[in-house]
Amino acid sequence: MSTTASQIEYYARALRAPRIGDAFRRLGDQARDAGWSHEEYLAAVLSREVSEREASGAALRIKAARFPGHKTLEDFNFDHQPSADRNLIAHLGTSTFVTEAKNVVLLGPPGTGKTHLAVALGVQAAKHDHRVLFDTATGWVARLQDAHSRGKLAAELTRRRRCSVLICDEVGYIPFDQDAANLFFQLIASRYEHASLIMTSNLSFGLWGDVFGDPTVASAMIDRIVHHADVISLKGTSYRLKSHQPTPGTA
Ligand code: ADP
Ligand code: MG
Repeated sequence: MSTTASQIEYYARALRAPRIGDAFRRLGDQARDAGWSHEEYLAAVLSREVSEREASGAALRIKAARFPGHKTLEDFNFDHQPSADRNLIAHLGTSTFVTEAKNVVLLGPPGTGKTHLAVALGVQAAKHDHRVLFDTATGWVARLQDAHSRGKLAAELTRRRRCSVLICDEVGYIPFDQDAANLFFQLIASRYEHASLIMTSNLSFGLWGDVFGDPTVASAMIDRIVHHADVISLKGTSYRLKSHQPTPGTA
C-alpha cells in the first residue's frame, strides 16, 4: 500500500471518520477520470462522510424512538384524507415546530391516519437531529407511575424533557383515574414551552373531561397543549376498511 494511502487511513481513524478511509480510493479514481479539481475531490470525500454519518445518526434516533412501525409523510395518501392540510403537514415535516417547542395535536376517528402522521412527523424530527420518543398515553402514565413509586418522578420528568419530541398516542382510549390524570398533567406541564409534544386522540377536546375524570384538570391540560400548537382534525372513514369497501357501482 502506498504511504499516502496508509496515511489517509491513519488520519481517517484518528478523526473517527471511517467512511473517508473506505471512500477515498474510489473517489480518487472517479476524480482522475472526471478531471475534478483538488477542492472538488476533497468536497466529495467530506460530503460522503457527513451524509453517511447523518444517515446513520437518523437511523439510530429512529430506532431509539420505539415507533410502532415505520410510517413516512411520503406514504401518506392525502387524496384519501382531504381534511389534512398538505401544506401545513409539509411545513411540520421541516421540524421547525420542534425548535420552537410547539406541539401538534391530531384528532379524529379511528383509522383516519393520526398515528401514521404522528410517526411520520417523528421520523422527520429524528432526521433533523432531534431525539424522539413514542408511546401511548397509557404507556407514558405507566412509566411515570413506575418512576413515582421509586420516588424518582421529578428526575424522570427532567430526563424526558431532554427528548425534543415526545409522542403521546391514543389519548382518551382508556379513561384515567385521578392519579394517572395527575401524572399525565405533570408530563404536559413539564414540557410546556420547553419541548414538543405530538398527541393523538379520537376524542375532541370537549370530551377530555371524561377521560381525565375532572373537567378542571382537562381544561388546564388542554390550555397548555394548545397554547402553542397546530391542531389537525382528521375526518372521514377508516383507511383500514378502505380495501374492504365495495367499488362504487358494484355493490
Ligand atoms: P389512527 O391512528 O387514526 O387510528 P392509523 O394512522 O393507525 O389510524 O391508520 C391506520 C392504517 O391506515 C395505518 O396502517 C396507516 O398507515 C394507514 N393509513 C391511514 N390513513 C392513511 C392515508 N391517508 N394514506 C396512507 N395510509 C394511511
Ligand atoms: Mg392510532
